[in-house]
Amino acid sequence: MRLLVVEDEKRIADFLCRGLQGAGYAVDAAGTGGVALEHTHATDYDLVILDLMLPDMDGLQVLEKIRNRKVGPPVLILSARGALDDRVKGLEAGADDYLTKPFAFVELLARVRALLRRGQPTPEKLQVADLGLDAIRRKVTRGGEAIELAPKEFGILEYMMRNRGRPLSRTMIVEHVWDMDYDGLTNIVDVYIRHLRSKIDDRYQQKLIQTVRGIGYMIDAPDKPPERPVEQAPERLA
Ligand code: CA
Repeated sequence: MRLLVVEDEKRIADFLCRGLQGAGYAVDAAGTGGVALEHTHATDYDLVILDLMLPDMDGLQVLEKIRNRKVGPPVLILSARGALDDRVKGLEAGADDYLTKPFAFVELLARVRALLRRGQPTPEKLQVADLGLDAIRRKVTRGGEAIELAPKEFGILEYMMRNRGRPLSRTMIVEHVWDMDYDGLTNIVDVYIRHLRSKIDDRYQQKLIQTVRGIGYMIDAPDKPPERPVEQAPERLA
């Protein structure tokens, strides 16, 4: 596994390189966006760790150039800018994860490992609470009951379940499921999410698809049940 660390602050770059090498990875370092792009042209990296504030260009530009090449390594953005706006911009521009400085090295390492695992063979049976998805037979069940989904609905659900607990932007969903560069038509995702919700969530007490404000959507089973259980209409009980 070969990683590229793009960071102009030498102290941080050294700290990252030493830590990652200690964890068993081969690591290259780049102090500018220009050098980073030269490196990514010349070498197939398994992961790029990218600082947003670089002396010669904005890290987001570096990210866009890496992403323009279609088959690119996953990118973990690292930045002192923790504002939601930057996080959204980074994810929209195709970053795979985002970590705000200051951070603990163990947290960085956990995210690096998670991103590197994503390239590994993926399980064919996915489960979130009582929702099951069989990626080979293309079957979905909730509470044991079969649910019919259209192909795009299935694609979105599979993508979300493979990224359980991770907020996915509309752009990420479109690019994953439609397999083409959509430009500004990401509201189609909202339409499909509505269809999906009507099939897998509306009739059930526990809602699994969650709206993440400012980003997009995520699937997860919240640990806590809703505070007030859905009750039968009182007249029915009388
Ligand atoms: Ca910097």
